[in-house]
Amino acid sequence: MDFELTAEHKMIRDMIYDFARKEIKPIIKEYDKNHEFPMELVPKMGAMGFMGVCLPVRYGGAGMDYISFGLVAEGLEWADSSVRETLAVHLALHALPIFQWGTEEQKQRWLPPLATGEKLACFGLTEPGAGSDVAGMASRARREGDVYILNGEKMWITLADVADRFLVFAKTDPEKKHRGITAFVLERGMPGLTTGTIEDKLGVWASNTGWISMSDVEVPVENRLGEEGEGFKIAMSAIDNARYTVAAGAVGLMKAAMEESIAYAKQRKTFGQPIANYQLVQQMIAQMQQRIDIGELLVYKAGWLKNKGVRNTRETSMAKWFCTEAAFQTASDAVQIHGAYGYSDEYNVARYLRNSKGAVIYEGTSQVHQLIQAGYAFGWRKDKPLRKELPAYDPDYWTAEA
Ligand SMILES: Cc1cc2nc3c(=O)[nH]c(=O)nc-3n(C[C@H](O)[C@H](O)[C@H](O)COP(=O)(O)OP(=O)(O)OC[C@H]3O[C@@H](n4cnc5c(N)ncnc54)[C@H](O)[C@@H]3O)c2cc1C
Repeated sequence: MDFELTAEHKMIRDMIYDFARKEIKPIIKEYDKNHEFPMELVPKMGAMGFMGVCLPVRYGGAGMDYISFGLVAEGLEWADSSVRETLAVHLALHALPIFQWGTEEQKQRWLPPLATGEKLACFGLTEPGAGSDVAGMASRARREGDVYILNGEKMWITLADVADRFLVFAKTDPEKKHRGITAFVLERGMPGLTTGTIEDKLGVWASNTGWISMSDVEVPVENRLGEEGEGFKIAMSAIDNARYTVAAGAVGLMKAAMEESIAYAKQRKTFGQPIANYQLVQQMIAQMQQRIDIGELLVYKAGWLKNKGVRNTRETSMAKWFCTEAAFQTASDAVQIHGAYGYSDEYNVARYLRNSKGAVIYEGTSQVHQLIQAGYAFGWRKDKPLRKELPAYDPDYWTAEA
């Protein structure tokens, strides 16, 4: 067992924190206040290799491993949840499923512009009437010769109104419920495909969250990802990766909240002394540190399993469940330490509190994660091999040009 990050991991960690400090922190408050997506960051993140950090070089990626992916997510959310969400959706929910399930032709066609950030991509699973209950989706796809005709509505989709590409799910065989779902890659501009933005969210104001409407959208057969009926497995394998980035990001948010709470506690005085001197304040800081330490262990273990190519649905679910709840509690304590100032946007902690709540809902609610954990504990839930697993990280393959 080795708890040490490699020199390469330390390098990417330093790079991402440096990027977050110089490029995100100075601008994000304004974007958040204006409820605007910081599109200017996408090409910058692409140029740094973050948009395709764990994709092989042959597909335009940076050729790094899944631990590096977690570190990038952590560093981004240390600065802002909305920016981490962008990477989670674009890379974990869209590009990685193409890498895992796509044909060689699809990988070569779709991945390079995603890895560089030239194209931005999203993932449309949730519908107005179906969130946790994926099999309850109403979207339909019917095949007519060389095309599928898609109809349906997707809701609460991160990047919906700014993305170029859409990985969406629709039923090709409704009788078969979750076994009748198929995955498709849609492109902006396809007739019948429209999108919009959802306003007035509780948090992640700098993230674009929206809806996708499909009205008789003609999708070529070659845009189907995987086989007919494999959509549910594709969606769940994608979510295994995105949950990992959500958990890692939550660790980043907790670190930011703790750093800012310590700085504030040292300078804010009550009754003639800094509030840092009071044991009840120290207790909140100690508990933040405890959550960060536990969260990091869960995240790194999930990343280590991914690197080895071992299925990690249970471990990733545990990391996501723990870290997002821990981040919400940590953000709440950070507001408490800041007192009334924490209740305003003068400091960052109010934004952390708003943003951290979203992560307790998306990528499986905390209730869903408890059902998953109980299912494994009782032995009711078992991982079955997939037709195509996410490959183990092999540095020779990942870094080779072709
Ligand atoms: C900011 C944000 C971004 C998002 N981005 C995306 C995206 O990019 N793509 C995408 O496809 N979706 C996205 N979502 C949607 C998200 O995945 C869903 O909101 C989530 O899956 C929960 O579904 P729901 O909101 O329909 O809640 P529901 O499924 O209706 O659940 C409502 C409540 O009931 C509880 N519940 C449901 N079933 C059970 C059960 N069996 N046992 C116990 N309790 C249960 C839930 O835990 C929850 O508390 C996003 C959501 C948010 C808030």
